[in-house]
Amino acid sequence: TVYKSVALVVGVTGIVGNSLAEVLPLPSTPGGPWKVYGVARRPRPAWNGSHPLKYIQCDISNTEDAINKLSPLSDITHIFYVSWMGSEECDINGTMFHNVLKAVIPNAPDIRHICLQTGIKNYFGLFESYGTIQKHESPFVEDVPRLKTKNFYYNLEDILFEEAAKKEGLTWSIHRPSLVFGFSPYSLMNVIGALCVYAAICKHEKKPLTYTGTKGSWDCYADAADAELIAEHQIWAAVDPNAKNGAFNCTNGDVFKWKQMWELLAKEFELELVGYQEGQEQVSMEEMMKGKGEVWDEIVKQNGLVHTKLEEVAPWWFADIVFCSEDLLSSMNKNKEHGFLGFRDSMKSFVSWIGKMKANKIVP
Ligand code: NDP
Repeated sequence: TVYKSVALVVGVTGIVGNSLAEVLPLPSTPGGPWKVYGVARRPRPAWNGSHPLKYIQCDISNTEDAINKLSPLSDITHIFYVSWMGSEECDINGTMFHNVLKAVIPNAPDIRHICLQTGIKNYFGLFESYGTIQKHESPFVEDVPRLKTKNFYYNLEDILFEEAAKKEGLTWSIHRPSLVFGFSPYSLMNVIGALCVYAAICKHEKKPLTYTGTKGSWDCYADAADAELIAEHQIWAAVDPNAKNGAFNCTNGDVFKWKQMWELLAKEFELELVGYQEGQEQVSMEEMMKGKGEVWDEIVKQNGLVHTKLEEVAPWWFADIVFCSEDLLSSMNKNKEHGFLGFRDSMKSFVSWIGKMKANKIVP
């Protein structure tokens, strides 16, 4: 194959990285045919194994490892950065991204574009300061001033601006998805994963599926971003001149209510649903699921599932944040003005990712 573009996907086993790995090599993908390199720390998992890409095991927080493994990849034309360290620490998250850019940009003469994925925390601050910061008014729009608070997204943006400016003609785009619906048992923030595992445990224990969150999050309009759509969004920005050097929100383009999604979840796992009860306070899933590790091991064994650890596949802390959140909608108008018209039906998206969890034997 004569490749037209060469992608480096950093975080290729993550929730968006895995979709980029799936979409980029397709013959119909804009900018293609694409050659793809994928980076992550752990060995390549089986569920990622069939995507045609060159897998590079590398710890990008380690400058030497990043230089050794990434600087020889001199044919890279595009970087897709879809990674973070799993904590909101500004310095290390910044160092990871900086290490990638420093290893690649000076050594890849044809480098053309960098996609950086951040998210809607851009508009309301880090989880660690959740509720204590005056957030931007929603629906969130891209071109608002930064909040006056530390945020590793701002560090990443500044590193991007600085490094991209060093090379004539090198363009960039910043992608700000809302809550991601996707597939990755390695993802540190995967609400679909947490919900599927929760449902599987309810079923195993012969209990109804009980909503644990607040009234606000049950009732309000919410939005989400399908991981495959985010991949298409980044590829659009990588190849379309109308998307250069700007930040873009990314959502499915519709709204839903969590009460509707919980109904779908109950149906997918054939469970009775106990929804929000008037006067109910949030019950922490993280607390509730303490000590369920052996129950999960039993479910995995009984159903012949791929071997996983409960703490790996079910980020309860993240579900707890989702089910106390409200009023976090994003506008997609800037995208439409610049020519991105992609969308997903959030309900279909939700069900399809549950299907992918089952098909890959992560949940029964
Ligand atoms: P994930 O947690 O799903 O995936 C992270 C990826 O990065 C994995 O492939 C992981 O593999 C890899 N990785 C982590 N540390 C290193 C390292 N030191 N060296 C090499 N690879 C590494 O990422 P997300 O897509 O969720 O997050 C990316 C960005 O998107 C973050 O800024 C996040 O805040 C944002 N975002 C996420 C949302 C969500 O719902 N998930 C919503 C909105 C925004 P391994 O561990 O094997 O190294």
